[in-house]
Amino acid sequence: MSFSALGLSEPLLKAVRDQGYDTPSPIQAQAIPAVISGRDIMAAAQTGTGKTAGFTLPLLERLSSSKGPAVKANNVRALVITPTRELAAQVSESITNYGKYLNLHSTVVFGGVKINPQMMRLRQGVDVLVATPGRLMDLYNQNAVKFSQLEVLILDEADRMLDMGFIRDIKKIISVLPKKRQNLLFSATFSPDIRALAKGLVNNPLEISV
Ligand code: AMP
Repeated sequence: MSFSALGLSEPLLKAVRDQGYDTPSPIQAQAIPAVISGRDIMAAAQTGTGKTAGFTLPLLERLSSSKGPAVKANNVRALVITPTRELAAQVSESITNYGKYLNLHSTVVFGGVKINPQMMRLRQGVDVLVATPGRLMDLYNQNAVKFSQLEVLILDEADRMLDMGFIRDIKKIISVLPKKRQNLLFSATFSPDIRALAKGLVNNPLEISV
């Protein structure tokens, strides 16, 4: 099994080679073709399984291959929500690395730092926004981020987000997104609470467990 067999195009394959990866991990082998095909996924995967590349690579593939209208001011085409600043920064760094041969724009926002520079970066619109829930809500409430062009929603480490009490923010955000969109849900485990969240979120998902 090689990355090229999974449906990734040359700019992403080149970035993957630059990272020194030669074989997709099990979650990547399952998730990458499904996400490229537009399917929702629900994946049980711990850190260390290669899950970040498992969703960022096919996300970048989709965003670079679909030729929609230009992203409007303050809009985002894909939203990745993570429980912590550290994870948000890590996911954002992966997107920058894997997307280095593509012409897509991404940014990351989280709490504990000034909001104004984040508002400035969102003004032009971005292809991918990586965010923690609290700061995302603040930005949304100040009209700094808009979702009318949103195509893909990704919840990373959803179980930790529930443990940290972010369920209300997550539900609020989901309620203001366009109905027609792709949803990717990643969680270390599928607890009953995660299953309940998934019910109102994913449609006919491919379930992956690694
Ligand atoms: P993650 O589970 O996403 O936190 O990734 C764990 C680590 O595995 C990261 O340091 C990645 O750079 C690395 N990694 C991801 N995919 C692969 C792969 N296919 N081959 C080798 N290393 C990888």
